[in-house]
Amino acid sequence: MRRSRTARAATMAAALTSLALAACSADSPAASTAPSSTRAARSTSSAQSSSTTPSAPAPTTATATATVTTSAPSPAPATALASTRLTLVPLAGAEPRTRFPTNQAAVGSGANASAHPVSDAVWARMVGYSWTSGCPVGRSSLRYITVNFWGFDGHRSRGAIVVNASIASRTVAAFTRLYEQRFRIRQMKVMDSSWGHAPIGPGADDYAAMDADNTSGFNCRYVGGEESKKGWSNHAYGTAIDVNDFENPYVAGPGRIYPDAWFATRRSGYAGAFSSTRSAAVRAFTDQGFRWGGVWSAPDFQHFDVGR
Ligand SMILES: [Zn+2]
Repeated sequence: MRRSRTARAATMAAALTSLALAACSADSPAASTAPSSTRAARSTSSAQSSSTTPSAPAPTTATATATVTTSAPSPAPATALASTRLTLVPLAGAEPRTRFPTNQAAVGSGANASAHPVSDAVWARMVGYSWTSGCPVGRSSLRYITVNFWGFDGHRSRGAIVVNASIASRTVAAFTRLYEQRFRIRQMKVMDSSWGHAPIGPGADDYAAMDADNTSGFNCRYVGGEESKKGWSNHAYGTAIDVNDFENPYVAGPGRIYPDAWFATRRSGYAGAFSSTRSAAVRAFTDQGFRWGGVWSAPDFQHFDVGR
């Protein structure tokens, strides 16, 4: 189990736990412990330049369901993403620590994605962190992909992700689709020494990456939230990708939602969030053969993989 990183996360986890124990409904007294739209003083952003920039109030999908199911919020139609006025910045109390991380400037036009073998410099930062001796795949099985993306600041940035060579082309295709949709990505940095060590077991610290809303792929680590079982995550094979972890949390179990519970019950109408299997953003991956963890009984909204 994970150690709480922030007081807010602990508070939210406690709230969700209490909701689970209360077997609550939307009008349960326990619901008052959850954040509500009444505190929704919308953040202002001076960097909203895209056509998807929102101004409409956020939809209230905050049903007090502690265990998230795919039947919770009503999904947006597949064609709605481009025209829906999305809430760009999460509401007060629902933001990662760094709203606008320092991202590398975009290179070239469009998504401009490319896949290459992992360079010596990148590998040197990965060894001892996201890769250690005994991992199921090695350097020659991995590819380093760079691609432009649309940041939450409204600017084009460039990110990097390491994945298994077997999914390199479909990863390029998926992120190219996201770029074309102007889907917002907070940051996209390779899992390496800059994230530190996982608190339990091998790998770079995915909890730090989730807190930072980082989009990433390969990380030779155990399944998050159940490290004691010592089972390799699909990320350890490089066949899984996590996108915008903060807007798309991982529900490990009741009261154990990483990195933050706020978005666990708010799935529609937010920039950077995957809302449903019919959404264009989810289809950017599933059309390439990825599975989406958002439909699992314990949803992992940030997670796409091709199995192994
Ligand atoms: Zn994942």
